[in-house]
Amino acid sequence: MKYETVAEAYRDLEQASGRLALIERLAALLTATPAELLPVVCYLCQGLIAPEFAGVDLGLAEKLAVRAVAAATGTAPDQVTASLRETGDLGQTAEQLLAVTAAGRRASLEVTAVVGTLRQIAGAEGAGSQGRKLDLLAELLARATPLEARYLLRHVTKGLRLGIGTPTILDALAQVYAGGRAARPVLERAYNICCDLGLVASALVKGGMTAVGQLRVRPGNPVRVMLAQRLSDGAEILAKLGGRCAAEYKYDGVRVQAHRTADGEMELFTRRLERVSTQFPDVVELLRAGLGPREAILEGEVVAFDPAAGELRPFQEVMFRRRKYGIAEAVRDVPVALFCFEMLYADGEDLTMLPYTERRARLAGAISQAPRLRLTTATEVDDPAALEAAFEQAVTDGCEGLVCKSVSPSAGYQAGARGWLWIKLKRDYRTELSDTVDLVVVGAFAGRGRRRGTYGAVLLAAYDAGADVFRTVTKCGTGFSDADLAALPPRLAPFQRPARPARVDARQDPDVWFEPGLVLEILSAELTLSPNYTAGWGQIKEDAGLAMRFPRFTGRYRDDKAPQDTTTTQELIDLYRIAQRTPAST
Ligand code: ATP
Repeated sequence: MKYETVAEAYRDLEQASGRLALIERLAALLTATPAELLPVVCYLCQGLIAPEFAGVDLGLAEKLAVRAVAAATGTAPDQVTASLRETGDLGQTAEQLLAVTAAGRRASLEVTAVVGTLRQIAGAEGAGSQGRKLDLLAELLARATPLEARYLLRHVTKGLRLGIGTPTILDALAQVYAGGRAARPVLERAYNICCDLGLVASALVKGGMTAVGQLRVRPGNPVRVMLAQRLSDGAEILAKLGGRCAAEYKYDGVRVQAHRTADGEMELFTRRLERVSTQFPDVVELLRAGLGPREAILEGEVVAFDPAAGELRPFQEVMFRRRKYGIAEAVRDVPVALFCFEMLYADGEDLTMLPYTERRARLAGAISQAPRLRLTTATEVDDPAALEAAFEQAVTDGCEGLVCKSVSPSAGYQAGARGWLWIKLKRDYRTELSDTVDLVVVGAFAGRGRRRGTYGAVLLAAYDAGADVFRTVTKCGTGFSDADLAALPPRLAPFQRPARPARVDARQDPDVWFEPGLVLEILSAELTLSPNYTAGWGQIKEDAGLAMRFPRFTGRYRDDKAPQDTTTTQELIDLYRIAQRTPAST
């Protein structure tokens, strides 16, 4: 299979105007892909060459890539830089230069060879590695067509941001290999427990949907995390959970999923699938000392902790630990504790199908508790007064509130789902009707007057998980400090697009469009209905979506969240209903 086939698909996908068009175009690409290349082409559709959690970094500085383009096209590096200044995109620059120097070149690059070379580029380390990366890229470019060069350059420098969600690729896979989109839930579950689209695709082509259904969690492959719904009233929560639940303290920190593989290696993943064991060497040590099973997957919240006082510390302090350098000092200055709440796998056994109480018992048996390695505080309650008391105690002890968990025998661990088996009850629902929500920036309006040169307001969207689309809910220009305003344009620049991205649903026309990327925490006085916004369109009232009154940025960037982890449109609908005091939908 020629790489040109993939490059042509990239080009079309970039221009596609809606999600159905994306699925159709992806399906055409997958149909043209030989079975043995399907895993690799699936990664390429994600803009990757390996599963996301592998953290493969092609790591080519733009300057170096400029030199590779210069070498491959016989152009002076200064000239390449000048053209780059004009286009703002090295991919386009390379394409334009090759259109002159390699006009009429026939496509000859094979997908396998391209991916092999990209892997070599990523793998080059140590002395002389930069030169080696440059040579490898220049060799590829010397054989590439202009269109191929466009994507090769984007891939090795900034990463390909194609704006295609994994659910959309799963839809295309289901359409081509499983007889239709009805198969997506099974494919999605498989993806949710291994986070490896290549692995799912490989099972699919080798053993069909049976093999996909038989995939199990395995240490080393992060599992997409289970998430919570929210309600503001204890009685309502109990009713939702069948009259009885486990009320666990909700700690305010960083969620980690710890994996110990058979070789004894320990890795910590964030919910965005980043590897953070180097940032939390003390947590790795705590687990080495206190975790029983040889192979295991468990989850917990890493919280800043004052060992002298035995007290929890605020979220901002643990965020200080999310750094690349100065780790030894950070470990010394900000001690943390791990509060464990889930056990997903132990010594050959997938525990995700077991009910909560059994998983909790396995977790308790697997951990030797220590002052900084603990289980989350949990009590089983069956009446609103007891739930209320647990909530007050949690807040008194420095927690945000409670996560109330279903103890039903059928309530397994739902990877990647925000269902009604976990319901959070937080302090801030109590003080105001409103709670903060996390929204993603999809557009911006140019600033005037004092705000000239930056943005006056951003257009924000919530994620519609069922449709894999981002729908707008508000414009927000309040709450940004001068530093925030100065930082916004460069932070948003990598996501800028010339037209509305295919997965953004909006009824406005901002001055600039962005691929969903930057997530902001927003507080708003009230949710209202409006014909200008598309979140929850038609679900509460015909021809109206949900909008926010007086939205304000809290100052908290949710870099720990991927765009698809933002507040969902369904959550907004639920929040609206809670506020209206009508029963939440099921
Ligand atoms: P928030 O912004 O309210 O923290 P979120 O969107 O990050 O919410 P939710 O799934 O809504 O995530 O809330 C659950 C989160 O709370 C988990 O992702 C986890 O990080 C944290 N947490 C703290 N304590 C617990 C606990 N005992 N059980 C489960 N999750 C917990």
